[in-house]
Amino acid sequence: ILQLYGPLDQFGASYRSLQKNFIDMERMLDVFKEPVEIQDKPDAKPLVITGGEVVFENVSFGYKPQDSNLKSVSFKVPPGKKLALVGPSGGGKSTILRLLFRFYDPTQGRILIDGQDIRNVTQSSLRKWIGIVPQDTTLFNETIEYNIEGEDVDSDDEGLEVEGRIQAAAEAAQIHEIVSRFQNGYATRVGERGLRLSGGEKQRIAIARTILKNPPILLLDEATSALDTQTEREIQNSIESTSKGRTALMIAHRLSTIVDADEILVIQRGEIAEQGSHEELLQAGGIYAAMWVQQLREDRTPVESSDSSEKE
Ligand code: ATP
Repeated sequence: ILQLYGPLDQFGASYRSLQKNFIDMERMLDVFKEPVEIQDKPDAKPLVITGGEVVFENVSFGYKPQDSNLKSVSFKVPPGKKLALVGPSGGGKSTILRLLFRFYDPTQGRILIDGQDIRNVTQSSLRKWIGIVPQDTTLFNETIEYNIEGEDVDSDDEGLEVEGRIQAAAEAAQIHEIVSRFQNGYATRVGERGLRLSGGEKQRIAIARTILKNPPILLLDEATSALDTQTEREIQNSIESTSKGRTALMIAHRLSTIVDADEILVIQRGEIAEQGSHEELLQAGGIYAAMWVQQLREDRTPVESSDSSEKE
């Protein structure tokens, strides 16, 4: 926990927070590429969360005027429910999450959170209520504790209380056990000058950070890289505990992680091609069912784990 004495340390602190904001932007770049400037309306009000319902109403969008990367997409995620987005590369999954985070505005239709058009609320309030677990997490060249704590922790909190909450978040993200095995525990430095963590471990640190932030709405971008079965299961468990009680929109690459989603959207060429639960979509025997069969086949062929090979 940081303790500040005098102006020099304060300078250090603001430098760190500057560095942190910079890296936060960097971290979002995988789902949230090339954001353009969106301005708050002069009369923008803070978003008021009553349950965390997300609604897309005939949303169309193109990155360029001549493109239509989303074509009249409509769906509703009730408070606390889990929506999975699947489908071929370039279909528009990330675009849906970027629009919800309001990096762009739809060219037609509207996006509502708890009944409020997100174009009418302040961006700071919108982003405060939405947590993101990106695909590839860049960690700070700092301690594990610092990496989990993030900037949203109230600095007036008693040190011990914060420590307890960091550990609780790490436990929920299934990274506590690993951290406790390090000689310096949560004070272990990560990054270039410290410990190297695997992709799966880094993602769990990001999950712990999100648990600590405690947002009612979660956007998850599952890593595309192949993980070993054990790591995959651990991440899956930690994602499940993170999304419990929260509205979650998740881009899934491994279908095994979304069997329990309340609803699955198959996004293809900017449109919802199929929609339903895992069972319903298997029954329908369409695109999703074919993807499922394909994945089962691939799972039978052993893949080399990138999770452990990243470690050295
Ligand atoms: P993947 O699974 O590969 O991440 P995706 O379903 O998330 O794909 P999107 O990233 O949403 O797909 O992309 C949808 C379409 O929009 C693609 O044709 C893509 O090339 C295009 N696109 C994405 N970002 C931009 C951008 N910043 N500028 C122009 N076109 C873009």
